[in-house]
Amino acid sequence: MESQRSPLLEVKGNIELKRPLVKASSRLPLPGSRLKRGLDRMEDASEPEKKRTRGLGTATKIATSRPRAPPLTTVPQTTAQKVSKKTGPRCSTAIATVVKNQKPVPAVAVQKPGSSAVPPMVGGKKPSKRPAWDLKGQLCDLNAELKCCRERTQTLDQENQQLRDQLRDAQQQAKDLGIERRTLEGELAGVRVQAEQGQQELKNLSARVLELEERLGMQEGLVQELQKEQLELQEERRQLTSQLEEQERRLQASEAALSSSRAEVVSLQQEAATQAALLAERGERLHGLEMERRRLHNQLQELKGNIRVFCRVRPVLPGEPTPPSGFLLFPSGPGGPSDPPTRLSLSRTDERRGTLSGAPAPITRHDFSFDRVFPPGSGQDEVFEEISMLVQSALDGYPVCIFAYGQTGSGKTFTMEGGPGEDPQLEGLIPRALRHLFSVAQELSGQGWTYSFVASYVEIYNETVRDLLATGTRKGQGGECEIRRAGPGSEELTVTNARYVPVSCEKEVEALLRLAHQNRAVARTAQNERSSRSHSVFQLQISGEHSSRGLQCVAPLSLVDLAGSERLDPGLAFGPGERERLRETQAINSSLSTLGLVIMALSNKESHVPYRNSKLTYLLQNSLGGSAKMLMFVNISPLEENVSETLNSLRFASKVNQCVIGTAQASRK
Ligand code: ADP
Ligand code: MG
Repeated sequence: MESQRSPLLEVKGNIELKRPLVKASSRLPLPGSRLKRGLDRMEDASEPEKKRTRGLGTATKIATSRPRAPPLTTVPQTTAQKVSKKTGPRCSTAIATVVKNQKPVPAVAVQKPGSSAVPPMVGGKKPSKRPAWDLKGQLCDLNAELKCCRERTQTLDQENQQLRDQLRDAQQQAKDLGIERRTLEGELAGVRVQAEQGQQELKNLSARVLELEERLGMQEGLVQELQKEQLELQEERRQLTSQLEEQERRLQASEAALSSSRAEVVSLQQEAATQAALLAERGERLHGLEMERRRLHNQLQELKGNIRVFCRVRPVLPGEPTPPSGFLLFPSGPGGPSDPPTRLSLSRTDERRGTLSGAPAPITRHDFSFDRVFPPGSGQDEVFEEISMLVQSALDGYPVCIFAYGQTGSGKTFTMEGGPGEDPQLEGLIPRALRHLFSVAQELSGQGWTYSFVASYVEIYNETVRDLLATGTRKGQGGECEIRRAGPGSEELTVTNARYVPVSCEKEVEALLRLAHQNRAVARTAQNERSSRSHSVFQLQISGEHSSRGLQCVAPLSLVDLAGSERLDPGLAFGPGERERLRETQAINSSLSTLGLVIMALSNKESHVPYRNSKLTYLLQNSLGGSAKMLMFVNISPLEENVSETLNSLRFASKVNQCVIGTAQASRK
């Protein structure tokens, strides 16, 4: 910084340097008064000259008496020195020149040797005063003094002339100096203006410098940031480069794998085409096999009989009397105990005959044979297993109808709907059958079959139909429902005002069963357990379609929980309640016997089948005809006290079992 000294400072330095010069100039007389003052000064200056002259006069006086070296030779020197002191070196040069040019003037006229006018010094002592009488000598002295004075005057004139010359020179010098001063003042003013400009410029430059320094600081910060960023970016770039290299390596590997995969794909496509052809062929074969399975399945069902009867004996419930041993027996079949039981023996003591003869009452044994007998310990799953194939026939397009027949409390509802609570082990045939149908339909979807299911649940009480799936305001109310044909000329029957609910999963079926249960509970009264006095009919309309082959099959699956088959005790009093009960019983008996008659008529291939004789047979006619498969559960009580009703049920079931309904045919379109 020291080296970058501002021009202003330099200017200042110059000014300082020149200042004494200006001051010196300022001491010079001004042009107007210069001459006068100069003269004054000259006069002032000549004053000491006068004094000196006067002094000289004294000296002359002395000199007159005592001659010595002329003193005037020293005067110009003194004056020159003084002038030199006052005017500075420039003047001193001029004066010196003047003095140089000056001829040495003898201050005193040289006394002629040998003159007697001036008494000579004796032994260096002052000459003694002329005696008064020595007028001549005195005159001589005065003449000498006069002469000396004249010489001195002349000298002084010369000196004066010299001084005037000097003055003129000095004035000329002063003029020159004035001009020089003005020039310098002009220069100075210029320099000052320059200095001011310089200062202003300096100020501006300082501000600019500050601003630039600030900007520089910012720029430096920015540069640092950018450098940092650059480093980061470089690092990032390095990483990206390495990543890129890695990716490129992978890409190359992938490309290699891709090309090999492509080749593999081509071979796989070829293989797939072969497989597809094979698959199509297998599909064709599978379809053929499926059709064959259906045919054989149907044949098997036919061999088993299109109407089958299963007998199920419920267990003795807690609190019920244990029946005597041998009351119900389950003799094993021809294949031994490993064969599923098909026979049942009921031993009954004929007390009336024993009492009359007085002998112990004889035991009458009643043997029954059915398609299958389920002893009290049989579980729900075991029972369902036996009917699952039959249920599956409904998917093949065969109408299927399963009844539960028996006296009240024999286990019909338990068999069809299930036991109390949520125990899955106690689930009845309806939920199990539907689950089975859903899962088989799912399997068949792999072969191109699409199934849909629509459920309805009604009860027939005293020859009136009531919707068990009714909701809202119609909940629990009977009547109003009528069985009608779906359309003119249609074989299909529907119940008016009843809900037909599409179902596709177990949960939906469970919800429907719960709703039916609630609706039954609403209708129940203390005197009348209506559910046991009415038939509950659960129907599932199954529709299957194989669109690619243009196949369709439609069939109803009916699961019927019949009303209690017990007879009314003739010994009971006929009160108003009993009369109602009698009417109910007659309606039940009528519908049950109509069911028997319908089965008989079908079995005997009679031209007229009395379906219309009861609402039950009328509703079920499509599930009972020649192409239908029927299964009747005869549910019996294990108790001895129910033996009479048990025998009635077994006899009715045996009659049904003897019926063989004509060859079943799938309903295909
Ligand atoms: P129904 O419907 O024929 O009148 P239920 O099905 O109501 O008869 O059965 C009467 C009682 O017997 C119910 O408490 C039921 O739980 C019970 N029950 C019926 N069958 C069985 C069985 N196989 N195992 C256990 N309990 C049964
Ligand atoms: Mg019941």
